[in-house]
Parts: sequence; C-alpha cells; structure tokens
Amino acid sequence: MLGKQGAGKGTQAALLTDRYGVEHVSTGDLFRAAAAEGTPAGLEAKEYMDAGELVPDDTVIKLVHEVFTGNFLERGFILDGFPRTLPQAKELDSVLGSEHPLDLVIDLEVPTAIVLDRIAGRRVCENCGATYHVNMPPKSNWTCDICGGRVVQRDDDTEEAVHRRLELYEQETRPVIEFYGELGILAAVDAVGEGDEVFERLVHEIDRRFDPTER
Ligand code: AMP
Repeated sequence: MLGKQGAGKGTQAALLTDRYGVEHVSTGDLFRAAAAEGTPAGLEAKEYMDAGELVPDDTVIKLVHEVFTGNFLERGFILDGFPRTLPQAKELDSVLGSEHPLDLVIDLEVPTAIVLDRIAGRRVCENCGATYHVNMPPKSNWTCDICGGRVVQRDDDTEEAVHRRLELYEQETRPVIEFYGELGILAAVDAVGEGDEVFERLVHEIDRRFDPTER
C-alpha cells in the first residue's frame, strides 16, 4: 500500500487486514514502536523520522527480514509504507521469490493540498496507532476509543518534516509506483473522501481482481 503521508495508508490497511484476515505490516509503526522502547535502532530511526527523512535502506531491509519469518508469507499480508525506494522494492522482490510474488500494489491517490490539511489536523494513539483528526477526535478527552491510550500529534507531523516527506515521496517513491505500473500489478485508487467510501473503492478493486464471484 503506497501513498503520500496523510493519504490514509494506515487507516485503510488496518480495515483491509480485518476484512481479508491477513497480517498488517507497517514499517512506520514498527519504527515508532522501536523508538518508544528506546532500542538503538529505534532511536536512530526516530532521528530520520522526525526530520522527515527516510530511514536508510539497510535499516529498513533488516527490519523487514525480521518480520518475514516462519509461515508469514503463507498467511498473506499487507505492507503499509514499504517499499518506499527502488532498492527496497528490488529487495522485496528477492525476499518473496517466484513462489510468493506480490498480488497487487495499491497507490492511494490524494492531491497534496488535501494531505497537507489532513496531516495538520492528524492525531494518533501513541499506544495502538489508531488515527484521529482534530475535527473527528476520540469520544473522550483525547483518549483512544479503541485501547484507552493517549492520543497525540506525531513528532514528525511538523510543517517542515511534512514538506520534506512530500519531496522525498516524489523523488524516491514515485519511481517505485512506476516500477509496479510496468509490472502490471498497480491499482491507483482515488483516496479523496470519507474513509468508508475509500474502503469501498479498495474492496471493489481487490475483489474484482481476485474474487471469482465479482467477475
Ligand atoms: P509512516 O508511518 O508510514 O508515515 O512512516 C513514518 C516514517 O517512518 C517515514 O517518514 C520514514 O521516516 C520512516 N519509514 C517508514 N517506512 C519506511 C520505509 N519503507 N523506508 C524508509 N523510511 C521509512
């Protein structure tokens, strides 16, 4: 699942994970968890994240190798925010091999003006990662509706970091989208609108490719 910051990757990946009963792997969430635990790799990643930079490929690839163990590939998965660079995409290709190629790459398309507005108002649960907006806060006192954790602004949602992330998206991630487009496994989905509308579009896009009853 690819898309600019604020396109709704995390929200939609969580909904799709429930719907299809697969694993949800968010490299951003894994880095945030490692930073909160204070591991050396987590603290190093946090410096890059807070500045709006990408975490270096070697670190990301190491993390992904740790996740892809056991029968993970057989269970099925949604990768959220990975790969973000061409070297990461090539590495993923070799990890998956010919037995488990990617079925589909979704690009959540949102104009920059909209993501800027979404990110400025974005608030997240520091415990479970659930996302809220200042216009749609949790029910009580910035306490997560799902787990009761504290709902806060992400450290990397500053204006400067957001602009840098958008710049890097065009430089580093746009070629990844083109790469998957050439492989014929890219689905660009309009991610403007309410979350449930976008979810419907995604389910439609997935089922029409993989669910024989939808063809
Ligand atoms: P996200 O939660 O997906 O917006 O990711 C937050 C931050 O984590 C990004 O801005 C990067 O600094 C870092 N990050 C997450 N995934 C990757 C990745 N695949 N490659 C490099 N950096 C990443």
